[in-house]
Amino acid sequence: MTTDHEPAIARLLARMTPAEKFGQLQQLAWGWNTGPGGPGSETVEAAARAGRVGSVLNLAGAEQANALQRVAVEESRLGIPLVFGLDVIHGYWTTFPIPLAQAAAFDPDVAETDGAVSAREARADGIHWAFSPMVDLTRDPRWGRIAEGHGEDPYLTARYAQAKVRGYQGRSLADPDRVAACAKHFVAYGGAEGGRDYNTVDVSEHRLRDLYLPPFLAAVEAGAATVMAAFNTVNGVPAHANTHTLTEVLKGEWGFDGVVVSDWAAVAELVAHGHAADGADAARLALAAGTDVEMASTTVVEHGEDLLARGLISEQRLDDAVARVLRLKFRLGLFDRPYTDPDAVIGEPTPAARAAARTAAARCLVLLRNSPAVLPLSPTAATVAVVGPFAGSTDLLGTWVLGETQRRFPAGTVHDALRAALPDTTVLHADGIPESVAAALAADVTVVVVGEPSDLSGEAATRSELTLPGDQEDLIAAVAATGRPYAVVLIGGRPLTGAWLDTAPAVLLAWHPGIEGHHAIADVLTGAVNPGGKLPVTFPRTVGQVPIYYNRENTGRPYDPEHPDNPFVSAYLDLPDGPRFPFGHGCSYTTFTVGGPTLTPTAVTADALRAGATVEVTVAVHNTGDRAGDEVVQLYVRDRVASIVQPVRRLRGFRRVPLAAGESTEVRFTLSADDLGFWTGDPTGRFVVEPGEVDVVTGATSTTTTASTLTIG
Ligand code: BGC
Repeated sequence: MTTDHEPAIARLLARMTPAEKFGQLQQLAWGWNTGPGGPGSETVEAAARAGRVGSVLNLAGAEQANALQRVAVEESRLGIPLVFGLDVIHGYWTTFPIPLAQAAAFDPDVAETDGAVSAREARADGIHWAFSPMVDLTRDPRWGRIAEGHGEDPYLTARYAQAKVRGYQGRSLADPDRVAACAKHFVAYGGAEGGRDYNTVDVSEHRLRDLYLPPFLAAVEAGAATVMAAFNTVNGVPAHANTHTLTEVLKGEWGFDGVVVSDWAAVAELVAHGHAADGADAARLALAAGTDVEMASTTVVEHGEDLLARGLISEQRLDDAVARVLRLKFRLGLFDRPYTDPDAVIGEPTPAARAAARTAAARCLVLLRNSPAVLPLSPTAATVAVVGPFAGSTDLLGTWVLGETQRRFPAGTVHDALRAALPDTTVLHADGIPESVAAALAADVTVVVVGEPSDLSGEAATRSELTLPGDQEDLIAAVAATGRPYAVVLIGGRPLTGAWLDTAPAVLLAWHPGIEGHHAIADVLTGAVNPGGKLPVTFPRTVGQVPIYYNRENTGRPYDPEHPDNPFVSAYLDLPDGPRFPFGHGCSYTTFTVGGPTLTPTAVTADALRAGATVEVTVAVHNTGDRAGDEVVQLYVRDRVASIVQPVRRLRGFRRVPLAAGESTEVRFTLSADDLGFWTGDPTGRFVVEPGEVDVVTGATSTTTTASTLTIG
């Protein structure tokens, strides 16, 4: 049900002074404010009383939230409730796998479940607004925030963006178990040069439109209540002062009527960017470009009235920004129910939430290699050794687990989970190289659990190398040298490299799998769950190949006579061609065949597509093995001749299909103008469907070659 809040918003606006209006545009951080003249947390209450703050982030729970809300509602002149936001990224009490891992499930329902569970837990504890989903795609695994996004592909990221928004927001933000979503960071934040966080982004209009914007559009179409601007510049103009992206595209073309919130102190940082002369200039530029709410820094609230009086900010733009904030508050139902029921606080992961997190984690695991098949562990193995620094570690939650305001419970260990899963097997545990070798020699099979700690990925966690930290490669080599069978479980927030990835007989990629990740890993190691995840991001051989991604543009050089459209022709004298593992790759304990595409019709006109015609694609998929499992059927297109060179592959459909041993089925996809067109490079942006031939390619990974031709007349 949609409610028309506009008359109430207009009435309230008419009663507000300029100072109160600018107050609504201020978001203060509980406990810590930065920026020129930023107030300390002790002044947050005073600001609430004075109507000089509209939202607050980083409160620690319902009690604190209610106390502060009481000040705003009962002691301020207009009694406008505050909105409370927090970085609920992949869980509140119950930590789900990191978003990059969720993308590996190729099942957006995983993100929807995370969103719904997180929303229920967070809203019950006084949080109305999650600063998530992060839908920044990236092609650079050095960038630590790759862990927070969904990999390298715009289509996959867009599907996850929609699902997470649905999970957070449900049918109505006013429901007591829902929160407002925030699609971030607008825009192209993941395109930072060198993977250096916060860095410059220089991107053509067509790439902006075809790569970086689609996930945001998907989030907006799914009803995302808010969008956060990005720290980076976009083509020379900081994203917070970027009229083209914020006002022309987001609010203009897409008709977004929600709130654009700044990133932390990023309005004040327009000065550091060298774009604004001082705080007042920063406030003017940000507001004029389309930023509505200033997080943490305080330039707008400090200088707004003066700027308004001098005609440097228009009353119309001010009222529009304030209306957006009030709209959010009405949608959240805060005018009717500003307080949180202290008795409703959930307070810990419920058994149902844990079960959902365990199922989700198991779906995210990717079996990178299993030849010869060491996994699943043989049920007759008398002794299994579990070794390596992550075998006994609870560091499985991943980024955004930051103490007081991230209200999380720890994971268990892989060692304990395996012991519980294999009650009739002796499970040895060792860390350290000599001890691990001794354990491996005493065991029938060894599981080496290695990886990257949580704090090496996430914000400001850029790495120049993608190798395993410390002596973990030596550990793997020492276990390998025993000549005994072994499997590696790889923990981490990004693609990692190392020659061991070519030689280890079995590698299970577990990412940072969350609170129940240890059980999910045990479920897959023992074969209770057959892994079915696929890579949402290409694994390079070495950091020197970065950026390497499947949807590259062809130049004809170097030429691959066998596969002219090979997504991964690379030109390094000192490396074999291609990545270590391509986008879309993942193995199973069973085997599948995925057939070529059948198109209906095989020819269609561009006009018909523009008018809404579609092409149906059917693909046969067969479980040819002796065990049930999931295959992810993937659909790619390639426009062979186009006015803007098109990538050799563009993902345009995927479906994770569960099949019993020996079972077959047919998967159907629909291609529309949205899937077959592309953006031209005009500054205003034009989406076109051009006549010509399009390869429609299906398979189980991005390097598949089974294609049919669609003729667009
Ligand atoms: C991050 C945002 C986050 C904000 C508030 C910033 O540093 O870039 O993603 O929402 O802090 O914590």
